[in-house]
Amino acid sequence: MTDQINIRGARLHNLKNLSVDIPKGQLVAFTGVSGSGKSTLGFDILLKEGQRQYMESLGLVTYGLSKAPVESISGLSPTISVDQHLTHQNPRSTVGTVTEVYTYLRVLFARLGHRPCPVCGKNVPPVHASAGLDWEDDTDSDADGSGQTFACPHCEAAIPEMGMAFFSFNKPEGACPTCTGLGIIHRVNVDRLLDEEKSIAEGAVKGWDIHYIRHYLNTLTAAASYFGFDFDLSRAVKNFSPAQRDLLFYGANSPQFRRHFPDVEPPATVSKGRFEGIATNVLRRYADRIEDADYREKMEALLVTETCPDCKGTRLRPESRVVTVSGRSIVEVSRMALSELGAWLEGLPAVFSAQEMRLADAILQDLKDRIGRLVETGAGYLTLERSAPSLSAGEAQRLRLANLLGSGLSGLLYVFDEPTIGLHQRDTHKLIEVLKRLRDLGNTVLVIEHDLETIAAADTVIDFGPGAGKHGGRVVAMGTPAQVARAAGSLTGDYLAGRARIVVPKRRRAPNGKALTIRGARHHNLQNLTVSLPLGSLVAVTGVSGSGKSTLVFDIVDRALRQRLYGAAESPGEHDALEGCEYLDKIITIDQEHVGRIPRSNAATYSDAFTAIREAFAATDAARERGLAARHFSFNVPGGRCERCEGSGVLTVKMHFLPDVEVRCPVCHGRRFKPETLSARYKGLDIAQVLDLTVEEALELFRDVPAAASRLQVLADVGLGYLQLGQPTKTLSGGEAQRVKLAKELGRRTSGQTLYLLDEPTTGLHLADTARLLEVLRRLVEAGNSVVVTEHNLEVVKTADWVIDLGPEGGAAGGRLVAEGTPEQVASSEESVTGRYLRGILR
Ligand code: ADP
Ligand code: ADP
Ligand code: ZN
Ligand code: ZN
Repeated sequence: MTDQINIRGARLHNLKNLSVDIPKGQLVAFTGVSGSGKSTLGFDILLKEGQRQYMESLGLVTYGLSKAPVESISGLSPTISVDQHLTHQNPRSTVGTVTEVYTYLRVLFARLGHRPCPVCGKNVPPVHASAGLDWEDDTDSDADGSGQTFACPHCEAAIPEMGMAFFSFNKPEGACPTCTGLGIIHRVNVDRLLDEEKSIAEGAVKGWDIHYIRHYLNTLTAAASYFGFDFDLSRAVKNFSPAQRDLLFYGANSPQFRRHFPDVEPPATVSKGRFEGIATNVLRRYADRIEDADYREKMEALLVTETCPDCKGTRLRPESRVVTVSGRSIVEVSRMALSELGAWLEGLPAVFSAQEMRLADAILQDLKDRIGRLVETGAGYLTLERSAPSLSAGEAQRLRLANLLGSGLSGLLYVFDEPTIGLHQRDTHKLIEVLKRLRDLGNTVLVIEHDLETIAAADTVIDFGPGAGKHGGRVVAMGTPAQVARAAGSLTGDYLAGRARIVVPKRRRAPNGKALTIRGARHHNLQNLTVSLPLGSLVAVTGVSGSGKSTLVFDIVDRALRQRLYGAAESPGEHDALEGCEYLDKIITIDQEHVGRIPRSNAATYSDAFTAIREAFAATDAARERGLAARHFSFNVPGGRCERCEGSGVLTVKMHFLPDVEVRCPVCHGRRFKPETLSARYKGLDIAQVLDLTVEEALELFRDVPAAASRLQVLADVGLGYLQLGQPTKTLSGGEAQRVKLAKELGRRTSGQTLYLLDEPTTGLHLADTARLLEVLRRLVEAGNSVVVTEHNLEVVKTADWVIDLGPEGGAAGGRLVAEGTPEQVASSEESVTGRYLRGILR
């Protein structure tokens, strides 16, 4: 085994024939401005090649997994990535299930839970007739008490033994029957599905085309005659009788319809009239594909979601909810913060009998280790019941880190993408310790990072650059942090050494008297919070992870203002009042949600620059002669594009058991357009060549097309000058995607009374990029607008006009206003953790 990963001649994206030797068994930081090539080497080359070589070494087929575009890589270990793409999109997953803490608690409750006897109501202690001492048996089989019963010590009634499944909301034995363990129920939003003014024949049901209408009309008519009532298909739906409505909405087999004909068996087949019901159909299709996040999102537009009225969101059956260990139900325990849960478990040995301890000892030990790792990674404020899809990218990443640490595997290469995102400086050092422990297990830990403290803690820093895109792609400095700090020509070195820094503004903008005031906010963990955001300034909302920043800014301010200004439907989180809305006429929110879902978009189309570019092409002589209009230069509509690949330049080949592979389109050879379209040139370049340009290059080319240049300029202003126009948005990193959104919004005219809300805008940004972004935000404020950012990056916080610090801790121990004022004022607050760290850098 070698002690280095040797990469020779890497040529992908902007990497320029890069050769580098990465020391193994170390904590290695990849640094450099956004777009310099860190992820290309870390994810597209090391990760993919590590996985491919590993599969090959196991003798697995690796068709479709092409070799990385490098001359050679040796010394690579099996590779695991921990990136920002969320993997837990299943609504049945919770913090408890993905960390397995809940699984262990289920064993604890099944073995040691007390419950009321269903007959006499008296408390019944557990009986361990069939439970072996090796609890692993329980987890493996997940058996439900093997169907045995025992006698109630009070009334002799036979009580079934409990198994682990009794506490699982993902198994019928434990799930609340009303919501099947989801904790929420869906109702179909009939208004979105139906236009009641019309008859079915006229297209009352949205989404039914003529083909569907004919098919369903037959079934509906058959059903009506089967039940012997009249069904006038030319009647507007609003005039239907209750029976007709219930048949149409819920179907012939539904309780809602059958109450009209309680004695008639429903029709057996579709042709006899077994109509499914349009609402029932939507719910069934939704349930069938519950794990498909894209599909779910589409269908959710048709649904109204409510907390389950029976289990009140706890997901469990009533029988499971009343079982207690040391006086607490599994529901109560699931609502504790992990750190609090840890403390509760610590106290159990004192209340357990010797026999109980024999049954619980191993489980308690395991739970303690697991929870300890979660707390260490900074997730201690999360509760087990929190649904996994609602976690932020940083939170999900930290849960994975804790799991990996627990696996105890060694000899691996781990690749992390900004593990500190969303983490307060206070918790960063804990995370660094965790990364080092992962290293000390005998692994190579590679982090792509911008946080100076983390970079300074690395064994080796590999700095990419010098710039972004084609100006990057090289290693400009490598060595210990101290060596990189001394290296000439390394931006990261400049910041590490303090030669470059983000300056603290000399003066803060004085409040102009206008403010947006939120009164009595109580959503999630907010504790009846009243707080004012001064308008016309840059406001930073700070606090440790989980203190309530996003809840305040996005769940309350954003939604409440959208309701006021635009009449939006989504209701804000609980609060008493929002005052000062009259000072604002527009709200723009830039969160971390990915833009990638929009199919076939890229930076040019997303920012609208492409419209003007297409018009510039259509205005050329060559285009006029051939009758090519602006739409012919689009790859999204038929006309000028290659129809074989529908303008994407690639064809997707489905592979069995393997990820799909993309191959270059054999007709256009990846150029996306018909030869005729490509024959029109603007300043010597055809439209496909323009899509290969970077934003910066395109800016040069379209200097004298103001509509294009202005939009390209904002992309450059937010630090995306290196981006290729044609790069699909789905391949952008989270931070890049956020800046593309930012650029789109900045490209619009501002009213001077706009409120901008940004969620951790420095994600993915080098300090040099951060400095640029701050310049853009400053311009917005100068124009009279208001900017509110949720941030943990103190380099941003120190430049704000006003800071609102929430806390003091995450979860239930947070949600209060700890300090507010200028950064200097917050820095002088004794209670504020943020203040303590600010003090160090406000010099
Ligand atoms: P970093 O991780 O340092 O921010 P990346 O490795 O993501 O940088 O990007 C390096 C360069 O490669 C950038 O110019 C980027 O636009 C480009 N790039 C990244 N991914 C792709 C892709 N899938 N297709 C084409 N270009 C890409
Ligand atoms: P921050 O933005 O400061 O990290 P959040 O506002 O995200 O904090 O979280 C504040 C509290 O609310 C935390 O205890 C968090 O676990 C909880 N919380 C956040 N989002 C949800 C959600 N969708 N469902 C339930 N609890 C949530
Ligand atoms: Zn329920
Ligand atoms: Zn093609």
